[in-house]
Amino acid sequence: MSAAPNPAEKPPLRILLCAPRGFCAGVVRAIDAVERALEKYGPPVYVRHEIVHNKYVVQELRRKGAVFVEELDEVPDSDRPVIFSAHGVPKSVPDEAARRALFAIDATCPLVTKVHREATVHFKRGREVVLIGHRDHPEVIGTMGQLPEGAVTLIETADDARAFSPRDAAKLAYATQTTLSIDDTAEIVAILRERFPAIVAPHKEDICYATTNRQEAVKRVAPEVDAMLVVGAPNSSNSQRLREVAERAGCRGTALVQRADDIDWSIFGAIKSLGITAGASAPEVLVEEIIDAFASRYAIEVETVSTAEESVFFPLPRELRNDAAE
Ligand code: SF4
Repeated sequence: MSAAPNPAEKPPLRILLCAPRGFCAGVVRAIDAVERALEKYGPPVYVRHEIVHNKYVVQELRRKGAVFVEELDEVPDSDRPVIFSAHGVPKSVPDEAARRALFAIDATCPLVTKVHREATVHFKRGREVVLIGHRDHPEVIGTMGQLPEGAVTLIETADDARAFSPRDAAKLAYATQTTLSIDDTAEIVAILRERFPAIVAPHKEDICYATTNRQEAVKRVAPEVDAMLVVGAPNSSNSQRLREVAERAGCRGTALVQRADDIDWSIFGAIKSLGITAGASAPEVLVEEIIDAFASRYAIEVETVSTAEESVFFPLPRELRNDAAE
């Protein structure tokens, strides 16, 4: 066995840990929902789509008896629970579950459900709905799927907003994906507002508190460090946005990694300071794993930079609550 490296030989590294980071209330609720369903009904519990975009979380739940499927046709007709992920689902999914009398439990984040409701209200009031978001993201598929095909126009970029031509500019509303870049979205909204002054905005911002707070913390830390590392999955929208925010804030080296093994150490060679954050679906245990990996190569000093306090909590889906007190 080789001797432990002499701490005196390690280069110093100041780590600024962003706060808030990691799990949001919607992710906690979705994971708790699967765990509670496993406890209450026993395995298998079916989960449509990754419950949250994190391989580690999915593997842990799979180990406990969750079975992940992409579509309901992979779920046998039975009394087994089927949980819909935090990202939300198109209306056709609960409709199909009801038709087959499946035991469906909806773990859609309440802040995504809010966007679904708003889109539905606009549609009922005869407004054309513009959705600002990323094509093919499950949340966007779910939100667009609340309304009949063609009722929602997806806008992904400022150029899309400039090129968009509505059916009737006086009957227009917009909604957004919850995990977008605040700055990019503000630019797109400004273009839409300038072109269509009557466009109806969400009552309360659709980009959620967790996305906002994590981006703000990165904006504070990124200009002060030589490199920034985001713990999260490549298919996690809010994690990708955190990396972009760090880049735009002037940070020279940025990386998105899922586990310590994914770290490309060549990016971090001569750095003296490092910012670390985590996407809303990344558990704290992975942040700790990554800090440990840096501790094995550098003499680290960790400092937390906090830009907001969070106390948001969402109760479990009704079917999984033991009693009203919960
Ligand atoms: S990122 Fe926001 S919208 Fe998405 S699950 Fe978390 S709290 Fe809900």
